[in-house]
Amino acid sequence: MTKTEVLSRYFGYASFRGGQEEIIDNILGGRDVLAVMPTGAGKSLCFQIPALMKEGTALIISPLISLMKDQIAALKENGISAETLNSSTASEVSREIYGKAAAGEYKLLYVSPEKLDTPGFIRLVSVMNVSMVCVDEAHCVSQWGQDFRSSYLKIAQFIASFAKRPTVAAFTATATQLVREDIVRLLELREPEITVTGFDRPNLYFEVQKPKSKLNAVRKYLDSHIDNCGIIYCSTRKGADELYSVLTAEGYNVSKYHAGLDPEKRRLSQEHFVMDRAKVMIATNAFGMGIDKSDVSFVIHYNMPGDIESYYQEAGRAGRDGENAECILLCGGRDVGIQKYFINNPSDNEEMSDEERSRIKQRRFRMLNHMIAYSSGEVCLRKYILRYFGERTDENCGNCSVCCGERKYSDITVSAQKVLSAVARTKERLTIDEIADFLRGDEKAGLDPELMKIKTFGIMNNLSHRKIREIIDYLLRENVAETDMTQGRSILKLNDNSRNVLFHNKRVRISIAQAGEKADKKPKTEDVSDEPFDEALFNLLKNLRKTVADKKAVPAFVVFSDATLRDMCRKRPLTNEEFLQVSGVGMKKLEEYGPIFLKAINLFEQKING
Ligand code: ADP
Ligand code: MG
Repeated sequence: MTKTEVLSRYFGYASFRGGQEEIIDNILGGRDVLAVMPTGAGKSLCFQIPALMKEGTALIISPLISLMKDQIAALKENGISAETLNSSTASEVSREIYGKAAAGEYKLLYVSPEKLDTPGFIRLVSVMNVSMVCVDEAHCVSQWGQDFRSSYLKIAQFIASFAKRPTVAAFTATATQLVREDIVRLLELREPEITVTGFDRPNLYFEVQKPKSKLNAVRKYLDSHIDNCGIIYCSTRKGADELYSVLTAEGYNVSKYHAGLDPEKRRLSQEHFVMDRAKVMIATNAFGMGIDKSDVSFVIHYNMPGDIESYYQEAGRAGRDGENAECILLCGGRDVGIQKYFINNPSDNEEMSDEERSRIKQRRFRMLNHMIAYSSGEVCLRKYILRYFGERTDENCGNCSVCCGERKYSDITVSAQKVLSAVARTKERLTIDEIADFLRGDEKAGLDPELMKIKTFGIMNNLSHRKIREIIDYLLRENVAETDMTQGRSILKLNDNSRNVLFHNKRVRISIAQAGEKADKKPKTEDVSDEPFDEALFNLLKNLRKTVADKKAVPAFVVFSDATLRDMCRKRPLTNEEFLQVSGVGMKKLEEYGPIFLKAINLFEQKING
């Protein structure tokens, strides 16, 4: 079978996406590869297709059990024999898998990196015919990102232990040069062919909002998108807990996920989301690496992440099926401070020299500044991201809040000077709230009486506490002031920008991108059509899919993705041949689901045709 035949027969797709063919050809030619493609671009097929075409079994090393499980479920649905060995596999089951693996019954065997140096696994591999070794989420080997896993460092040794070295293929969505170099070096890739595809995700709409109340912004969004599923990322566990409690109490159907929950709870809550029992997941960045749920239609960041890489990776979990999806960043004054705190108080790594540590710190600050610049909403958001990843683009995208929104400017220099001089005169030791009390001249606020003698005490007594806080929020957001959390309280501090405002009369103008009407958006991913389709039929097929998925206890998108259902609604197949033409329907799915879906479509046609 050719690769194109495999693509259509097993996966039901008509054509390859950018980069896929080249990567597959290189692997089949026995070259090591490093493939850098954005989330949702279709990296899995790049190793699954060669795995099917080569003799023997491909080993896929993947960092997360949930990720492996979803991929295995999807492969099985396509009639491909695949299994996973990881710490959660029960021992009787794993005995059976070892046996079948030794007998060469799987085309793909997914393993967690922790397994690689266990005696049982080493014995197994010695009797297997390993066709290739694939490393998914390969950036986990690098310490430069938040996903570093020390167990990934075992991979090179594992590969070196083969008598005949197999082809090695590494995959990541992380684009930076440093991480790429780390991957090649630490996985000991041999003259790898490096493929970097375009980083644009045309079907994603990007938006930056600076709402007065983030909570209200979220409520409003959820209320107007009740049928959609999405993820809301918070930067701290506490933040996620709070948002979860508020929304749950108000009756929103949400689930939550962060590293502070026990593993069973995490598993359940992920399952709720993946199985569509909860539409919205509230999570920290612990959630989502390799989440295979393809119909996520929005990703809201409740707080600003620390760098563009993280933002793009997390936001990129939306719209993997190629359908239009939205990525919204909510910015508030505290966000920058939280990220600075994370940088100044890294939780990681034991064995680092002070020099290394400070280098990393500096790098992280630089990365944060890019994130701040993105959120200021001055340039086309997509252009900003793509340029960050080294892609030259001059055109504005027309599909982000900067391109589509109107902007409102206002000059707040005088208020800014009042706030900053209060910070200076109180010697940079008050919190945001205390400064607001001070500026209001609130004598009952319990401030140190000495402070009340200072000249600037009460110079903003015409404004409410809340209004003053809002101004401070702006200043923080625009990096005209900063907060320091080293003392456990968030103390307002001056920086170079503040001094320019205070002493050199630098203007402070806030530009607020008003989320305007979106341009008529068209999905631009090649394999997704934008022709209209019948919503009633779509809903009917969605219900049918849910029934089928529940009966088999697999996630709905594993049966058919939304994109596939939409294509079905457009093509309205009535015969087996026509059913096979639907994007995402391969031989196995025709056999398995053709009869009931065709029957439903036939009935629907009869009904509307009288
Ligand atoms: P990645 O690992 O790069 O984030 P995935 O491998 O999970 O992305 O693929 C994302 C989605 O794109 C999946 O639903 C997959 O089936 C789909 N996909 C991949 N390649 C193609 C293709 N050539 N045509 C249509 N859909 C594709
Ligand atoms: Mg992937």
